[in-house]
Amino acid sequence: MAEDTIFGKIINGDIPAEKLFEDEHCICIKDISPKAPTHVLIIPKRPIPKLADATEADQALLGHLMLKVGDIARMLGIDDAFRLIVNNGEGGGQTVFHLHMHLLGNKEFDESQL
Ligand code: C5P
Repeated sequence: MAEDTIFGKIINGDIPAEKLFEDEHCICIKDISPKAPTHVLIIPKRPIPKLADATEADQALLGHLMLKVGDIARMLGIDDAFRLIVNNGEGGGQTVFHLHMHLLGNKEFDESQL
């Protein structure tokens, strides 16, 4: 069972969310407050609080998530033009302490936004 963040509750089915993809290791949901016309979150079911907390034991899971990014981007038709963001820690803008990746697309990106 995932832990008690909002994403843990979504993974456990206690809170509804618009799920675009799910497998045994992760879910992909639409962000409730989108920052781009396409903005989804890819969330591992294992409750790693933040990326910097990942360990060697998470190596395969992290690889799986990165491969799913491409699959989900293709599914959404943004595989040639997306941005992938991981906020890490409060200082990095993280608000939900269950690791997740923001996949953003259908928006013009330039390096000044980094
Ligand atoms: O990286 P950070 O922790 O700031 O991102 C959390 C994201 O989760 C936000 O973009 C927020 O809109 C989203 N969210 C959501 N559904 C919720 C709560 C938060 O999509 N129920």
